[in-house]
Amino acid sequence: MKDCIFCKIAHHEQEADIVFENEEVVTFKDIVPKAPVHLLIVPKKHIRSINDLKEEDNPLISNMVFLAKDLAKKQKIDKKGYRLIFCVEEGGGQTVFHLHLHLLGGGLIEEGF
Ligand code: 5GP
Ligand code: ZN
Repeated sequence: MKDCIFCKIAHHEQEADIVFENEEVVTFKDIVPKAPVHLLIVPKKHIRSINDLKEEDNPLISNMVFLAKDLAKKQKIDKKGYRLIFCVEEGGGQTVFHLHLHLLGGGLIEEGF
C-alpha cells in the first residue's frame, strides 16, 4: 500500500533494524523503544488493524504469536516475562495503521504500554 511506513519497511524501501524475516512477516526494532527489548512483528500483507482480519488470516495471526514466543526466547526475555500487544485503532493507541504485534520485555516497560 502506498505511503504506508510498514509496507515500505516490509518491501525494503525504507530502512529498519530487521531481526527476523520470512515470506510472511518481518520483525524489526521499534524506533522509539518502550522497553529494553521492543520488537514489532509485522505481516508483509497490508492489513489495517485487528478489525480488518478475515477468516483466511487465522494462520497468520497464529504464526505471529508463535514467532513472538520464539523471539522472546532468542532475546532471552522469556523466563522473566514479556508483553504482547495489538493496539487497535486510535482509541486503542494505534498510530501506524498496518497491523503489528508489539513484543516488549527485558526490563522496565514504559507506562501506558
Ligand atoms: P502503534 O502505536 O501503532 O501500536 O505502534 C507503532 C509503533 O511503530 C510505535 O511504537 C513507533 O515507535 C513505531 N514506529 C513508527 N514509525 C516507525 C519507523 O519508521 N520505524 C520503526 N522501526 N518503528 C516505527
Ligand atoms: Zn502497510
